[in-house]
Amino acid sequence: MFKRRSQLRCSFCGKPESQVEKLLGGPKVHICDACVGVCNKILEATPQTFAGWEAMSDEQLLDALRPANATVEATRSVLQIQVDTLRKRGISWAAIGAALGISRQAAWERFS
Ligand SMILES: [Zn+2]
Repeated sequence: MFKRRSQLRCSFCGKPESQVEKLLGGPKVHICDACVGVCNKILEATPQTFAGWEAMSDEQLLDALRPANATVEATRSVLQIQVDTLRKRGISWAAIGAALGISRQAAWERFS
């Protein structure tokens, strides 16, 4: 897929370059300053040597909820953008569902 340089988007939240402060590029992926912030919060909330969730205190687990949820939301928005783009191209819900391994009905309920 071709992308003009002006159309670069964050691979995590899907925001275009024009709507973020900074966009960092890696091989085939880009990340914006806001998503870097989310990643940093997750790293901060995760003990240096990760001994498993059971080893974390209640406070540590509670502190980790918000950044973890933000990551889920960012990923979900990328998925939604991909589906929206396919729908604009006239791709059927059946084809989108098949690609996701879910039914046409489930795809429609989740993304329409
Ligand atoms: Zn982002």
